[in-house]
Amino acid sequence: AMSREKEAVDRARTAFLTGRSRPLEFRVRQLKALQRFITEREKEIAAALKKDLNKSQFATPLYELMGLEAEIALTLERLAEWAAPRPVEKTLLTLSDQVYIQPEPLGVVLVIGAWNYPMAVTIQPLIGAIAAGNAAVLKPSEVSTHTAKMMEDLLPLYLDKHCFALLLLALKSVCCEVCACDAVSQEMYPVVTGGVPETQELLRQRFDHIFYTGNSTVGKLVMEAAARHLTPVTLELGGKSPCYIDKACDLSVACRRITWGKFVNCGQTCIAPDYILCDPSIQDRVVEEIKKSLKEFYGDDPKTSQDYGRIINQRHFKRILSLLEGCTVVLGGEHDESQCYIAPTVLKDVTPQSKVMQEEIFGPVLPILSAGSVDEAIRFINEREKPLALYVFSLDNKLIKKVIAETSSGGVTANDCLLHYSVSALPFGGVGNSGMGCYHGKHSFDQLSHLRACLIKSLSMEGMNKLRYPPHSADKVRW
Ligand code: NAD
Repeated sequence: AMSREKEAVDRARTAFLTGRSRPLEFRVRQLKALQRFITEREKEIAAALKKDLNKSQFATPLYELMGLEAEIALTLERLAEWAAPRPVEKTLLTLSDQVYIQPEPLGVVLVIGAWNYPMAVTIQPLIGAIAAGNAAVLKPSEVSTHTAKMMEDLLPLYLDKHCFALLLLALKSVCCEVCACDAVSQEMYPVVTGGVPETQELLRQRFDHIFYTGNSTVGKLVMEAAARHLTPVTLELGGKSPCYIDKACDLSVACRRITWGKFVNCGQTCIAPDYILCDPSIQDRVVEEIKKSLKEFYGDDPKTSQDYGRIINQRHFKRILSLLEGCTVVLGGEHDESQCYIAPTVLKDVTPQSKVMQEEIFGPVLPILSAGSVDEAIRFINEREKPLALYVFSLDNKLIKKVIAETSSGGVTANDCLLHYSVSALPFGGVGNSGMGCYHGKHSFDQLSHLRACLIKSLSMEGMNKLRYPPHSADKVRW
């Protein structure tokens, strides 16, 4: 029997091969349908995220939806320009030719999402896939159960052929361009939910691109599966993103921004600062300032704050707590398994050998390690895997530029946290162990397109070609 996974991919491919996902009008309509999904279903989306991660009614729009809406708006505004032929510089030899790059869709894109920002990391790649004219199969993370279920239930109402078929009939007389489009959208964008076995079956199928967000271990499995079909991959992975605080710094502002970036979504942010490196002489002031900011943000008891999240599940709850072994807790440490609650926790005098420094923390635990100088910090960072993000706080712009020049990471924000993610002109992605490929804005479009080299010559002026045809001779070569 044909698996559900194979059936979904086959349907998407058949639909793609009809050419229906290619017209810009089709892409625009699908993007607008996605926008409607977000606007009309904000309540359901927020309810699911509340259950999965205790995201508040403000956190969901702020951290999951506004970015998507901005991305859709930007894409709608620029799509025609991005999809147009891109003329390239001409040379003497191509002076009378047409020479250009034509972006074209790849085919069927598989999007595998993670659970921490389950809407953002699943829908944002889909925006790029649609924009570039692809069909897509979506696989949200099964770990954020409620959001996955919500997407499975609701997304097809917007991208589903039967529901759109009703709209189609109603709109047909008003707008004839609708006729070729929405009827196929269920085939184009089926949502497959499922756990590891389903995902592995899915990965046996042939795709034209796989866009994976999640941890590096699974990233390797995805790439291995993709290799069997020579399928290109985008891997949005994680890692331990360092945060260096220079002595010459406004510690109050720096620590407020770090506290925000670290503890938002309960530390379950791929680009959260994982650990702090600073001179031992400022460590205690850093702790004090973080303490102040925590109080400012979450009050005396973060457990009762609507703005403080929860760990996704008990497995991760236990994993994070186990990272505290052998460390000095200076702030927080309280926890409650029944709620998957872990208080914002800061560790001081942490050594590189400690357990918390062996893996990405992905939780509300912030270790502080000593780095006596910027060079020591740079050495420390370079001895480890290339991180997804890197943060440096300093009043000294030269020092910031030095850190950028002498290290590597997917992205950098100096004197703040997370914000490079939100600049759609910047490519978002990892390097080395933190991933490959990038997206956001035009980068998504390019990532999920093939940039095809096109040269159109004229059949006239054959005389000019004599040089390249045999028989060759010395005076023909030296022209
Ligand atoms: P997860 O457990 O939800 O896994 C991600 C996806 O991989 C899921 O859809 C899951 O079904 C699938 N999967 C899991 N095991 C699999 C297997 N053996 N074979 C095939 N597929 C499998 O999420 P996670 O990995 O815990 O997510 C957290 C990680 O993701 C962190 O490392 C974080 O830094 C990273 N992350 C990166 C970004 C980014 O944009 N770079 C964004 C969010 C999260």
